[in-house]
Amino acid sequence: MSGRWDPHVHSTASDGTDAPAELVRQAAAAGLDGIVLTDHDTTAGWAEARAAGQRHGIAVRCGIEVSACVPRAGERPVSVHLLAYELDGDPGAGPGATVQELLEATVGGRARRMDRMAELVAADHGVGVEEVWAHVPPGATPGRPHVADALVALGAVADRDEAFATVLGPGGRYNLPHPVPTVDEVIPAVRTAGGVVVLAHPLAGRRGRVVVREEVEQMVELGLAGLEVHHRDHDAGERVLAARWADAYELVPTGASDFHGDGKPNRLAENTTGADELEELWRRRG
Ligand code: AMP
Ligand code: FE
Ligand code: FE
Ligand code: ZN
Repeated sequence: MSGRWDPHVHSTASDGTDAPAELVRQAAAAGLDGIVLTDHDTTAGWAEARAAGQRHGIAVRCGIEVSACVPRAGERPVSVHLLAYELDGDPGAGPGATVQELLEATVGGRARRMDRMAELVAADHGVGVEEVWAHVPPGATPGRPHVADALVALGAVADRDEAFATVLGPGGRYNLPHPVPTVDEVIPAVRTAGGVVVLAHPLAGRRGRVVVREEVEQMVELGLAGLEVHHRDHDAGERVLAARWADAYELVPTGASDFHGDGKPNRLAENTTGADELEELWRRRG
């Protein structure tokens, strides 16, 4: 393993706008030594990304950005994203039965939520629900960005950003919840499957409530191995705080673009992780 990696990127297997092979081509063109594909709650893009890595001469590993939550007494759970890495250690290996079951339940809940979001949009704009669903690529994990694409096509907003700043953002009319597993379920399941877990963008407050230090400590006790420090949604102060937490709990600090293609301003390689840090992470797998 060598060089500069971008270990958190999305394809059309979830809410990115580039197919896995195209994403890998762009990553090679950007001069990266490797990427880890981390689509939301799915492994659907893995095979295509791996094959493209061979063609373009770039290292491709595969992971999952798992939707999860931290329960809180007396209030709604805090939603978090857990990057599950090294579940693909053996060629052709999947993420393990328990992780697979958690993912299937989440994707099922996301599909039911997509139905409800599509009904609202369809009623408001006098179109059919299938016109909204048409923006979810076949087999993709359905999410709010696809609803945003439908709203763009309907002329209701200019782009995904405007959709998230209004109807799809906190308090927005189309921002519906969906059930996700708790960190207590996800972290041990990933470790049992031989994987390692990094908490993505822990302090990205624009998306909603974020975890406090004690909650990170609870995740460390469950086996959390890394913290995404360098991420576009962290300002300078948040990076300092995240780095301090990583230091305090001996978590591997990472950086990544969280690239979503044309759907977000994030550019490939805008934040990266060194091969040494990644190797240290891989050493800590379950
Ligand atoms: P969901 O998981 O369906 O609730 O949708 C959340 C996803 O929307 C996140 O994973 C981001 O990829 C994406 N997202 C959040 N904010 C924006 C934005 N301003 N523009 C585009 N995509 C966004
Ligand atoms: Fe996303
Ligand atoms: Fe995320
Ligand atoms: Zn992401």
